[in-house]
Amino acid sequence: MLDGIAPDRLKYFVYVQRRRARDTRDYMIQLIKGFHDVLPPETAKWRFVIETARENLVRCGFREIIIPVMEKTELFRRGIGEVTDIVEKEMYTFTDRSGESLSLRPEATAGILRAVVEHSLLRRDPVLKLFSIGPMFRRERPSKGRYRQFYQINAEVLGDDHPLTDADTIAAAYQIMADIGAKSVIMEINSVGCRSCRTAYREALRSYLAPHLPRLCADCRRRYDLNPLRVLDCKQEECREICATAPLIIDHLDASCREHFVQVQQALSALEVPYRVEPRLVRGLDYYTRTAFEIIHDELGRSKAVGGGGRYDSLLRELGGDDVSGIGFAIGIDRIAMGIDGGGSYEPHVDVYVAMLGDNAREQGIKLVHSIRRSGLSVETRYSPMSLKSQMKLADKLGCKKVVMLGEDELAKGEATVRNMETKEQFSVRIEDIIRYLQGEHS
Ligand code: AMP
Repeated sequence: MLDGIAPDRLKYFVYVQRRRARDTRDYMIQLIKGFHDVLPPETAKWRFVIETARENLVRCGFREIIIPVMEKTELFRRGIGEVTDIVEKEMYTFTDRSGESLSLRPEATAGILRAVVEHSLLRRDPVLKLFSIGPMFRRERPSKGRYRQFYQINAEVLGDDHPLTDADTIAAAYQIMADIGAKSVIMEINSVGCRSCRTAYREALRSYLAPHLPRLCADCRRRYDLNPLRVLDCKQEECREICATAPLIIDHLDASCREHFVQVQQALSALEVPYRVEPRLVRGLDYYTRTAFEIIHDELGRSKAVGGGGRYDSLLRELGGDDVSGIGFAIGIDRIAMGIDGGGSYEPHVDVYVAMLGDNAREQGIKLVHSIRRSGLSVETRYSPMSLKSQMKLADKLGCKKVVMLGEDELAKGEATVRNMETKEQFSVRIEDIIRYLQGEHS
């Protein structure tokens, strides 16, 4: 296209184009780092994941709760734990105009439990099953499958500490994954013990870590005093190496925690939920007691954990509620959607295209479009003048099975032409019979 242009003019042309591109880039307001847009057709996949999860959870007796994305910072400090990566480094916290410290939620359990206590929900339902779906915010280092705003499906069961409840909850999470069609999913499980097991374990861990203190990162040296369990989920290479041979919590469980864990495993086997015991699994939040688990999706490579959860037997009390136990899980929608096929099968289909030719046809056509839609079929059309050829091309691109052609002459006769896009057959149909005709053809 640029052949024959003098080199000077070509240079100038390139310069102008580059400047224009730079100006546009500078002028355009871009996404915040680590945040992402979910665009169609990806959104159709997300809807499929969310609907599958919702249907499964409702079948298991969970009811939906919607809570704010922002809470008082103190809720997360108390709930998640002061010495955790999430609270120390990853929360989006700010002081609002009244001087109060607020944070965007990094996880949902604390907020759900706050609502349970605030509205005394356990008084009505001593065993309460709730789920919630929405965005979470963590200022982590962004990478593929790791965002600063991500979406989770959260489920919580309160008021039942039987080991079968743990197995039932883990099985529900597994079933969601199975129904989504995720293959190679396995549940990694562990027991992190109760408070008293952990007190003994903490000391064993400190004795093990003590000679390695100079090699631990600065954060872990501080964690060593305040909360040595958190050293176990440090991401620094050297700390991980040291932790690889650290004593295991599973070897420090008291008799009742051990028995609880055995029963959970037996029930999971009976339910044929694939699992493996992962004795190093501790999870990054302080509130877990006894059963902890992660949902591993092997096809996802590095970001293979698509969900996780566990039992939290003292969290409700710590948030001002009664001494009621709980167990829950969170499944990350972003990662699940990444791990399932992106094919067009999630895309909504269009049944009918209405092609209108001429102003009269458009006036009549808009009414026809809406009545076909009211009958339950999906309809696409364009109101700005377009040639019939372009409209047929568009109908083809949208995958429409039928095209209703409305021209002035046909309208005068009270008719339209209906074209079957697969067989290429065309029929004249009276306007008042079109919906019946289309429905007959589509049923
Ligand atoms: P967690 O609350 O850290 O146990 O996370 C539960 C699930 O949420 C993970 O397995 C991920 O699927 C998802 N998730 C957690 N953090 C992120 C993130 N930064 N970006 C995307 N997904 C995340």
